[in-house]
Amino acid sequence: MGLEEYIEKRDFGESPEPKGAVVETGLNRFVVQEHHARNLHWDFRLELDGVLKSWAVPKGPPEEPGIRRLAVQVEDHPIEYVDFQGEIPSGYGAGTVQIWDSGTFELLSRAETKLIFVLKGERLQGRYNLVKTGQPKSWILLKSK
Ligand code: MN
Repeated sequence: MGLEEYIEKRDFGESPEPKGAVVETGLNRFVVQEHHARNLHWDFRLELDGVLKSWAVPKGPPEEPGIRRLAVQVEDHPIEYVDFQGEIPSGYGAGTVQIWDSGTFELLSRAETKLIFVLKGERLQGRYNLVKTGQPKSWILLKSK
């Protein structure tokens, strides 16, 4: 996807969010940002392809196996977003962003409709699946038993 949609949606004169660029770091980081926007959600982001592949998780990522959480894929975010927290005063995504968890991940497999990875975060640890549903942009995030 690249960052065109990310840049298009934002006014960087108004927003403190990083403009960023596509950059391959090889660091395999992930972040979960609690985002008090119009609707509270948790943004789940994986460093892949030089960007942060991103999903908005309305109920937050599962911490225990057996819980399925809807994860709506959103536009790719720049790598610099991995440590962004703060207040987006107005416009797209207006509200407070706080880092809820961060760490690294090990990618076990990747296909068009399914990602399997091991999270090594402070809160989230273990094997997770992201599985695409039949609906556009709609995925399920779940922790493996
Ligand atoms: Mn968000």
